[in-house]
Amino acid sequence: METNINTFEQLKNECIERGKEIYEVAQENMALNSDLKIEQVRAHANRSLFAMKEAIQVGLVSKELSMSGMCGQDCFRIQERFKKHPALFGGTFEKILKYALATSEENIRMGRIVACPTAGSCGILPAAMLSVAEDCDCSIEAQLDALITAGEIGRIVAAKVALAGAVAGCQAECGVASSMAAAAVCQLRGGTIDQILNASALALKNILGLTCDPVAGLVEVPCVKRNPFLAVHAITAVELALAGVESKIPFDEVVDAMEQTGAMMSPTLKESSQAGLATTKTGLEVQKRVFG
Ligand code: SF4
Repeated sequence: METNINTFEQLKNECIERGKEIYEVAQENMALNSDLKIEQVRAHANRSLFAMKEAIQVGLVSKELSMSGMCGQDCFRIQERFKKHPALFGGTFEKILKYALATSEENIRMGRIVACPTAGSCGILPAAMLSVAEDCDCSIEAQLDALITAGEIGRIVAAKVALAGAVAGCQAECGVASSMAAAAVCQLRGGTIDQILNASALALKNILGLTCDPVAGLVEVPCVKRNPFLAVHAITAVELALAGVESKIPFDEVVDAMEQTGAMMSPTLKESSQAGLATTKTGLEVQKRVFG
């Protein structure tokens, strides 16, 4: 039996009707639609979770530069800084920045990462989710619940808009990653279904219009540093949602707005590197240096 949920309204209704959490509905549907058992769905999620943790551990100690030489040592820099000057906002904030940079720098070194939803945005969800999980002593099972919740958010957004900078700009990559991260963290923090969907909607709503203008066509600048920024963005959304702040625009309509914004965005700002940061004086110099 196939079960399809393609909107957040449908997801919420299913959760209410079945008396289940988002991750429970998501894993049951994944199992039904793929002839797997729920334990196999969770085992698959666990492999992704393990790979996310591995990418962080490798990225925290590597200083290898990317092909262009533009990126690869910011994680090292931030760790050195925090050794002498702890972050104003505490240890969890430090971890979020470190983990996001560790993962996204592993991506530009062609290391093993989990695209969530894409490679360029791979550091956002693991950084936010795993920093909070560690500092709140969340079990592996709770982390899997959070990851499956985030996956369901990404899946439903992707049912409407292709998650690619070339289609809808960086709002569809780093923006959606932040929205997924907000869902994961809200789940970890005991948020209700409404709070999880509000956190996700708030994160996405507040990044609409973000362009994709990578320097020299490489997924390095601005991509790497967007990861720590948007991991922190997700935490802001979670704290607001847990306090009862709501997205006045329902989540499905926020996704509609993202789709419309992406369609109206100039092709020069959708991964073609023909405008924005890519065509600044420095951006063009980098392109010339790297590609001649
Ligand atoms: S700027 Fe473009 S290439 Fe870089 S992460 Fe965003 S969408 Fe991906």
